[in-house]
Amino acid sequence: MKKFTDTVVYKIGFVLIAGYMLYTTISPLIDSPVKAFKCYFNDKTTSVFFASGDSGLTYLDTLKEAGINHFMFLSHESDKANFHSKYLEFNPNSPGLNSVFKKLDEHGFDYSIIFQFFYSPTIPDSLKQADQYGDDRSTDWQSLACPNDTNFINNRLLLLEEVLSIFKPEIIHIDFLRFQYFWEEQGITAPGDTSRVFCYCERCQKSFANYSGRKLKNYIDMHDYAFGIGRKIYLEWRSKTISRVLSLIRDSRDRISPKTQISVNIVPYLPSNKNIMTFATGQDITEISKYADILSPMLYSEILNTDLQYFEKYMKGLAKTSKVDIIPSIEIYIYTVPEMIFLQKEFGGTYSLFHLGEFLESDSGVRRTILGFN
Ligand SMILES: [Zn+2]
Repeated sequence: MKKFTDTVVYKIGFVLIAGYMLYTTISPLIDSPVKAFKCYFNDKTTSVFFASGDSGLTYLDTLKEAGINHFMFLSHESDKANFHSKYLEFNPNSPGLNSVFKKLDEHGFDYSIIFQFFYSPTIPDSLKQADQYGDDRSTDWQSLACPNDTNFINNRLLLLEEVLSIFKPEIIHIDFLRFQYFWEEQGITAPGDTSRVFCYCERCQKSFANYSGRKLKNYIDMHDYAFGIGRKIYLEWRSKTISRVLSLIRDSRDRISPKTQISVNIVPYLPSNKNIMTFATGQDITEISKYADILSPMLYSEILNTDLQYFEKYMKGLAKTSKVDIIPSIEIYIYTVPEMIFLQKEFGGTYSLFHLGEFLESDSGVRRTILGFN
């Protein structure tokens, strides 16, 4: 794989991590460190890996020996559920969460569920988020529903309650709980490019007009006010729009599965860039921390430009800003090993890793260097 380098320096790092990963310490933040892989059944390798009777399952014990103790699975992908749901069709690529969880129980692993909230590429254009020029209703992969559409939110909450009531997971990871924003392309290490933000649809215009008490004729009015003198109240409205939905998620959790912890995936702007993050995504660490039990920053090396310094600064800043637990989400990349060593030393070694399929498809040399086994 082209992502991995063969230099001696990295190999030394890779060997070091194997030792670190076999050495378990108690995290200062989470009772026992979560060392997880995130799983998506839309990649074939992952489906085959967990499919019934596949010989690949012998890897589970080897993954365990290498320190992995937890798997995270998507409840649904787009409009297909990975379990038999009342609300969505069954995903034909999925072996089904029930059988997967049974296997993980047999092999002594923990598991949890990732729930994509606003991400929904199959919704009609009218439900999609509009940018500040009043258009787009995006054709991009990252298609999120408007966070002010009551019907969509209520339907999602029903699906969430179904997942909670069937599986009672240890953790539910809420993903795509935000306004749409192409942070993967626009980057987050720069002060912030908010030349294109969402959502300025009629629902959002109405909601913002109510919140701010200002008359808005159209998206142009909303844009001018939000990007000008109304910025402060606009940030507040964005933050409240997202945290209100999170408070509904929390109500569902409290009612259906009170022991389940709520984790929220967050876009990893430095806490010092709080206003830019809220402007772009509606995510405000202080507001989200009122309702979440865990924050999961998406610290993907490739997007951070392999900036280890940023990674370290971010983690330390977040731990100071918010007192809730943190499960950093990291990618398998040349910087994975130094990142994991840092997390082990400073944060008790809790993390979730992308991507299991890619990892299993890589040659044994790569697997050995990342997790210390063949
Ligand atoms: Zn909207």
